[in-house]
Amino acid sequence: MKLVTPLGVGTALWLSASLADASAQDLNVLCGVDEAWCQAMEAAFEEKTGFDVSTKRKSTGEILDQIRAESEDPKTDIWWGGTGDTHLQAVAEDLLEPYRSYNEDDVLPWAQNFYLMSGGMSAGVYAGALGFSYNSEVLSENGVSAPSCWKDLTDPQFRGLIQMANPNSSGTAYTTLATLVQLLGEDEAFNYLTALSRNISDFTTSGAAPVKAAARGETGIGISFIHDAVTQKAAGVPLVIVAPCEGTGYEIGAVSIVRGARNMEAARQFVDFSLSPAGQATGAASGQNQIPSNAKAALPPAAPDISLIRMVDYDFATFGSPEQRRRLLERFNGEVLQNAEPEAMN
Ligand code: PLP
Repeated sequence: MKLVTPLGVGTALWLSASLADASAQDLNVLCGVDEAWCQAMEAAFEEKTGFDVSTKRKSTGEILDQIRAESEDPKTDIWWGGTGDTHLQAVAEDLLEPYRSYNEDDVLPWAQNFYLMSGGMSAGVYAGALGFSYNSEVLSENGVSAPSCWKDLTDPQFRGLIQMANPNSSGTAYTTLATLVQLLGEDEAFNYLTALSRNISDFTTSGAAPVKAAARGETGIGISFIHDAVTQKAAGVPLVIVAPCEGTGYEIGAVSIVRGARNMEAARQFVDFSLSPAGQATGAASGQNQIPSNAKAALPPAAPDISLIRMVDYDFATFGSPEQRRRLLERFNGEVLQNAEPEAMN
């Protein structure tokens, strides 16, 4: 008969060490995409791995600020989602950890380029173009004509009828700022933004807030990513989506491991999952419409075809550099926000 032996000291030590490891497998994620996708991704990853994940949604610039503030004692393991040029700023500030997922073999060329540009510190998860959309009922109630170009938005007929996010907090709005600089040249872009600011009723913290407000009829026009507008329009609201006639910019949304992450193994598995077809399917499953980076991932059925949109050759390296970001934001704060209507500031 086999005897059940009491636990020896060595076994007890091994057991307590593995229990400690198990709790160390919890993962802290700062998530830059829509709350619905943040939650869907957390649930899918927990189900796949059994890890207990804590996810908090923040805007992209807020995530960069938090990771910078925590850099001596990181509480965050993963920065998932949000505009890639802001992840590149974190690379330049030495805030990230290198990792190459095996799923990198399957990503599309734009995501491969992004990974190389980041020096192996950040991986492209999705892409999408910038634009704006208007609520046709709100515009007709206000007796104003529909805009189709960036330049139309400075028309005084739109006074108080436009929302855009604040580029200090929002990756969407930083993409807007960088896009306009690339389209118009820097001085002209700031002239344009100063004129535009007279029509802005709110500079929101989050990048998706303007299009959500337009969908609810609380504003006439929201500047946002086009895939965000597609998501809002799917609910049946009278939203018209515009790819501006002059051309526009785009984002590569990214995932990165924070330098010194406490839960490195779980963080690596999270990056693997976020680049896998199953991980990327959580976007469409939660109603999102970005273009996935994995060539084997299914395209959300309503995802906009960005090959049809006139696009600037977005310079991620330049606009992802900390000096450029600091300088452009200082200029934006001094020239645009300073002169904006006081009630437009949140
Ligand atoms: N929501 C969606 C759908 C996005 O694609 C992105 C950018 O990656 C964001 C939000 C970013 O949010 P924010 O502009 O608040 O940083």
